[in-house]
Amino acid sequence: IKKLRKPRQSRRTRKDEYDHDEVDNPVIDESVLSAKELLGLQQAEERLKRDYIYRLKKQPRSYPSAKYTCKLCDVLIESVAFAHKHIKDKRHKKILKEKQEEQLLTALPPPTPSQIQAICVAIENVVQEFGLNNEDLEERLNIKTVMENLLRQKLPGICNLF
Ligand SMILES: [Zn+2]
Repeated sequence: IKKLRKPRQSRRTRKDEYDHDEVDNPVIDESVLSAKELLGLQQAEERLKRDYIYRLKKQPRSYPSAKYTCKLCDVLIESVAFAHKHIKDKRHKKILKEKQEEQLLTALPPPTPSQIQAICVAIENVVQEFGLNNEDLEERLNIKTVMENLLRQKLPGICNLF
């Protein structure tokens, strides 16, 4: 005996508005394409993936002619041609650039020993040039003592602060 499935709830509450209402048809019927056309389509889609554009798994009911989605911009796209147009879009390009920079930074390899050494040399040079030597330190301590004595004289109650 086949179990009857409960009717779907009319409105599922899901965050992604493109997902909550969809039809089970594939968005592109590959069976009607020639081998050559299919290859061309696959190559075009591979290229679009670099721009975070993917073929939809299911047809959105709200936008039945949509075939692709740009994950960066969260938009639906009707065809490869429109997708090519979309990847030239200024806003898309900007988001893509940010995404790529973010990935580059998270995938950054640890520094090599020669890089670490170079950084140490650079820091030592800065310390040599701008750091305090013992004379500077002594001079500053002297200034502090002079100031302290002066304040103690002028403002007797202040000594608790030192
Ligand atoms: Zn986009």
